[in-house]
Amino acid sequence: MPDDRTHQVALTEAAFRIANERMSDWSERHAGGERELYLCECGVQPCRKRVPLTREEYESVRSDARHFLTVPGHAIPDLETVVQVFPEYEVIEKPTALLDLLTETDPRDARSGEATGRAQELADDLGEAATGG
Ligand SMILES: [Zn+2]
Repeated sequence: MPDDRTHQVALTEAAFRIANERMSDWSERHAGGERELYLCECGVQPCRKRVPLTREEYESVRSDARHFLTVPGHAIPDLETVVQVFPEYEVIEKPTALLDLLTETDPRDARSGEATGRAQELADDLGEAATGG
């Protein structure tokens, strides 16, 4: 079983992923190859940095439940691995031990469960912060 810190960081990252997913839903009709700002999905909080990605780049990160996008240098070395490096962002991969939590909270594969509920509550707070409301 992952320990508390591992779990907490993964939940935080899952919450940012949900917040990003909600924002990308809003901006779906603008999909035309231009870059949009997504929240850094790192587990180092409070982080409110934004990363410019095209919809395609974002979709590529989202295609794997273990992958998250971060500002370069925001990965937590003992908890995750940087798997792709771009000038403005990096893609990190979480360990397989967390796959259950990551799959459960994946907005593309949402199942109801305790972790999803907690991640969505965190995402609600992030959404308010992100929209200034
Ligand atoms: Zn960050």
